[in-house]
Amino acid sequence: MIVASEFAYQRRRMVRRLEKEFGVRDARVLAAMGKVPRHRFVRPHLRSQAYSLHALPIGEAQTISQPSVVARMTELLAVEPEHGVLEIGTGSGYQTAILGELARRVFSLEIVPGLAREAISRLRDLGYDNVKVQAFDGTLGLAQAAPYDRILVAAGAPAAPRPLLAQLAPGGRLVIPEGGRDVQQLVVYDYDKLAQTVRRRVGEEVRFVPLVGRHGWDKE
Ligand code: SAH
Repeated sequence: MIVASEFAYQRRRMVRRLEKEFGVRDARVLAAMGKVPRHRFVRPHLRSQAYSLHALPIGEAQTISQPSVVARMTELLAVEPEHGVLEIGTGSGYQTAILGELARRVFSLEIVPGLAREAISRLRDLGYDNVKVQAFDGTLGLAQAAPYDRILVAAGAPAAPRPLLAQLAPGGRLVIPEGGRDVQQLVVYDYDKLAQTVRRRVGEEVRFVPLVGRHGWDKE
């Protein structure tokens, strides 16, 4: 049995490493990662590894992303307290909780119903009442609460799904891994209302599980 204070200690160490080894600078992102109990988002037998810096299996052939990738993507997303956020690929719900710490409201879509169910009960137990998880193909977005100030896709896409770009608010930003089924690059889209343009910037290499669905990859 690992006691709560030991998890808190490990979490502080993780945050220091994100700062020192991965150059994460955003104070709000670091504070959120220092707060969310990552060990509650993995299976009990993996809890002792929850604050190590690698991805871990969460069942259904999916993984909880590495803390460094969660931190990097959240930094790139530049979430403000008044923002409405859409997340695609809830997985364990860990990134969802981080977004819940930073934004006013978070909608998150997960295509595997079992994972969505687990994330919903976890986030409810932890008191995240500003986040809403639904089992749905996220490549279609979620028109009912659009437009969104920020959209984060946590699975690798062949290209940015058109419905997601269409659901960005003026001044909005979409962060998405784009590329092949195994390796992608983080891409940032900024929607400039005045210029009526979407600016696209390509960043670092990442490895995500595939975004499957109507505007993503085929199932296999
Ligand atoms: N950020 C999550 C990990 C996400 S892994 C965490 O930290 O736990 C990517 C997730 O995207 C997987 O759970 C996968 O089932 C989901 N996914 C894949 N395609 C999807 C789609 N079209 N819509 C919603 N979720 C999708």
